[in-house]
Amino acid sequence: MGRRVLVIGGGAAGMTAAIMAARSGASVTLLERMDRVGKKLLSTGNGRCNFTNLDQKPEYYRCSQADFPWKVIGQFPMEKTVEFFAGLGILAKERNGCLYPNSDQASSVLDVLRLELERLRVPVLTGCRVQGVQREGGSLRVLTGQGPFPADAAVLAAGSKAAPATGSDGSGYELARGLGHRIITPLPALVQLRCAEKDYKQMAGVRTDAGIVLCVEERDGVWRPAASDCGELQLTDYGISGIPVFQVSRYAAAALHSKRRVKAAIDFLPRQTPEETAAMIRRRADAMPDRTCEQWMCGLLNKKLSVVLLKRAGLSPSQKAGSVNESGWNALMGQMRSFETMVTATNSYEQAQVCCGGVDTAEVDPATLLSRKTKGVYLAGEILDVDGICGGYNLQWAWSSGAVAGLHAAVPPGA
Ligand SMILES: Cc1cc2nc3c(=O)[nH]c(=O)nc-3n(C[C@H](O)[C@H](O)[C@H](O)COP(=O)(O)OP(=O)(O)OC[C@H]3O[C@@H](n4cnc5c(N)ncnc54)[C@H](O)[C@@H]3O)c2cc1C
Repeated sequence: MGRRVLVIGGGAAGMTAAIMAARSGASVTLLERMDRVGKKLLSTGNGRCNFTNLDQKPEYYRCSQADFPWKVIGQFPMEKTVEFFAGLGILAKERNGCLYPNSDQASSVLDVLRLELERLRVPVLTGCRVQGVQREGGSLRVLTGQGPFPADAAVLAAGSKAAPATGSDGSGYELARGLGHRIITPLPALVQLRCAEKDYKQMAGVRTDAGIVLCVEERDGVWRPAASDCGELQLTDYGISGIPVFQVSRYAAAALHSKRRVKAAIDFLPRQTPEETAAMIRRRADAMPDRTCEQWMCGLLNKKLSVVLLKRAGLSPSQKAGSVNESGWNALMGQMRSFETMVTATNSYEQAQVCCGGVDTAEVDPATLLSRKTKGVYLAGEILDVDGICGGYNLQWAWSSGAVAGLHAAVPPGA
């Protein structure tokens, strides 16, 4: 019989770890607290599962130890992920570098993982919440609601606190703490931002291309840019959402957590230079002096947004464009190109796609993902202090770290 490996958590990382360990000859059991494995996977990529990305760079993965994620991903990179899933039956389809199953169904990705676990005869115990992991002499004892399980190695892949309805309720952090690990405060990331201004109710539902620069007020009182992105922005009744907001959200979460003020400057004409916008305004002002300001904005930006921009620029939507002076046009241009909004909070873990923070990677060996605190324990997936940007990078982290942890958990130390 191979080494007894228990995998805690049946998400993307845990299922990959279980498959890799079983393929390496270990006797593997997967323990999952929910009534089925892979619940989070089903909601990924709007139900289509963006499972990786052709464009891979170290800076797309964030971690307190900057080089840690890449050392792990290098052992099971995107190419191996694509090969792994092709071997399981997934024909990949590409959209702007993002890879999806050709079926456009996240359930296909979960199905092929489950089929492989079945083929490898890995027992999957659902409804089995792990309550603790103890080291006893040369082996481990994993305590669960269904009794204790002895093991030679355990892979802790219980996820973060993001989207807890899918099973990741943060109990993995408590298990890691019990094993002597330090937890870097988890915070919602890839999440919407709530803003202070009252005019969002008027703009709710607007989707528009925009650039966003997130600025943080440092201790010296100076506002500094912390992150920026560009893409389809969504305005909601409480603030801002959409991929560019998700991309900068972890920096907002961290700054707000450390009690610093955060604002965002939104550029609603990101494809134009300032000179082009100024020339366009002059042209339109000359061409349409008899239109009201609201009519003058027609075709330029979404109507709901236009009304708010005009008001913020001190212009009345009903005043004639011909009556607007130079400083009025400049004020409007300022609103169109750099609309400032104070960020008061992120949305909660319930709405977050991932968490930043987690188990401190300084306490984990990147070559094997073996805990430096408790022998025989490996860690994989989002439970670690690693988060990727939007675009398939968080699942890539789950596959890579799951594969590395599973492979090493299966091999006896010194072998
Ligand atoms: C709505 C949404 C959309 C997303 N879309 C994408 C996308 O398209 N592309 C992408 O790359 N990433 C996406 N992500 C992020 C990605 O899904 C996660 O980063 C990834 O699934 C994390 O995998 P994991 O295995 O580490 O954790 P999880 O998938 O959270 O799995 C952890 C598992 O452990 C179980 N568990 C927890 N505690 C215990 C315990 N004590 N005992 C036993 N079991 C336990 C949980 O029930 C869960 O099944 C999305 C996330 C969300 C919420």
